[in-house]
Amino acid sequence: MASAKEIIEKARKEARAVLTEMESKELLRSLGISTTQMKLAASKEQAITVSKQIGYPCVLKVSSPDITHKSDAGGVKVGLADDAAVAQAYDDIMASCKAKFPAAFIEGVTVQEMARPGLEVIVGMATDPQFGPVLMFGLGGVWVEVLKDVSFKIAPLTKGDAAKAVREIKAARLLDGFRGSEPVDTSALEDILMRVSDFVVKTPQVKEMDLNPIFAYPKGAVAVDARVILGE
Ligand code: ADP
Ligand code: MG
Repeated sequence: MASAKEIIEKARKEARAVLTEMESKELLRSLGISTTQMKLAASKEQAITVSKQIGYPCVLKVSSPDITHKSDAGGVKVGLADDAAVAQAYDDIMASCKAKFPAAFIEGVTVQEMARPGLEVIVGMATDPQFGPVLMFGLGGVWVEVLKDVSFKIAPLTKGDAAKAVREIKAARLLDGFRGSEPVDTSALEDILMRVSDFVVKTPQVKEMDLNPIFAYPKGAVAVDARVILGE
């Protein structure tokens, strides 16, 4: 497994500031953060072969250093049940991404295990000119997009800060279980915040991180999408 340092150096050599989802998740795994299992496939045939290895249902996503918002480009297909669905998804993703981003270099697709449903949350890091790295926590989906229900903490976070970041969002009650659903593992979320905080404090080359979404479960949490951006 490549170290965070090696992953960053490779991107630097290629003059890229944005790590691919594959690289970003590899980096997260090197920090001890769980992610969905994934592999790159450079052709439709390869996508089918890899899907069989990963197992159905699976997910296909466009892999391109030039396409960072994959769904907007029609580049994400989830719940693929068999070879035929993968073949169709591959064609649809390529057609849509080429139409929307004609100049993009497309490596292929990543084939991923389909994460079981969980509560969608977000962990982010941005670098403030005054405060340096700042960590963000929020619930995913409309909670962050429409209601802007997020909390912020300046790095380095203490364990107490991480616990507060999770509890301080307005919709924190959803974490405790809602209408019969089990409570989510908030200590797993605090652990992710701590690991990201520790990493960014000792890695000033990293300017932004986005773990969006993380699926939170009654036990554990898994980063389903990730993006890491390097600074100057
Ligand atoms: P984007 O680049 O548009 O943010 P994402 O990788 O976040 O793309 O995928 C969009 C949505 O698809 C996610 O918010 C999540 O709900 C779903 N999704 C993505 N990958 C998986 C996966 N491996 N398992 C289950 N759901 C997924
Ligand atoms: Mg995403």
